[in-house]
Amino acid sequence: MNVIWIAPPAAGKGTYSSLLKEKYGFSHISAGDVLREEIAKGSAIGKEIESIVSSGKMVDDTLLKQLIENKLRSIDLSKPFMLDGYPRRLNQAIDYEDILNRLGIEKPIVIFINIDKETGLNRILGRVNCPNCKRNYNLTSGYAKPKVDGICDDCKTPLEHRSDDNKESYENRYNTYFNETTELINKYKDEGSLIEIDGSKSPEENFGIITKILGVNND
Ligand code: AMP
Repeated sequence: MNVIWIAPPAAGKGTYSSLLKEKYGFSHISAGDVLREEIAKGSAIGKEIESIVSSGKMVDDTLLKQLIENKLRSIDLSKPFMLDGYPRRLNQAIDYEDILNRLGIEKPIVIFINIDKETGLNRILGRVNCPNCKRNYNLTSGYAKPKVDGICDDCKTPLEHRSDDNKESYENRYNTYFNETTELINKYKDEGSLIEIDGSKSPEENFGIITKILGVNND
């Protein structure tokens, strides 16, 4: 099983991905993390990516397609996996179909978590993540708070607030996100494969809905 999240920043996809990984053994591939890994290598491509990401713009489709395919080839594809932040526009959806065909993987389950800008901004200001294992937390939600303040529950690494999690960058990313994803959302809607979830609901409620959709929750 493979899942695509379509969700603007702070809609909750990072939290649901962490929970699916922890409770149900899903692999989690975040396009943002794949890009940050490349930046951390300090390569020429990494430096180019860094300047694009820090200005809130989108990275080139062909480059990202290659990085995502490399990442998929490096994981155990017999386990369920989810993509967070990819594909994000029509061209990338076509690229992803190409990757899936080449790897012999079935069609994705597409989950669109819709959220308004104000709710998203309030959430993002409380967001922290683990620089080591990439788990996301939110200081504004009891559900997603770390057990010990400022420390990752899983690997005990000090948590960080991402430098691009500020109001100006968020609004830029949110607007860019909806400008770029409209065609993608319409494509999956037209194909009848888009499952829409109300992102303003509590993480607890939405996680219950998502696990039912994926058939991993038998409660
Ligand atoms: P995120 O971690 O999803 O907030 O992504 C951080 C940054 O990585 C974005 O602001 C973009 O610059 C870049 N990025 C993430 N996903 C994509 C994508 N699908 N296509 C192009 N650029 C992306």
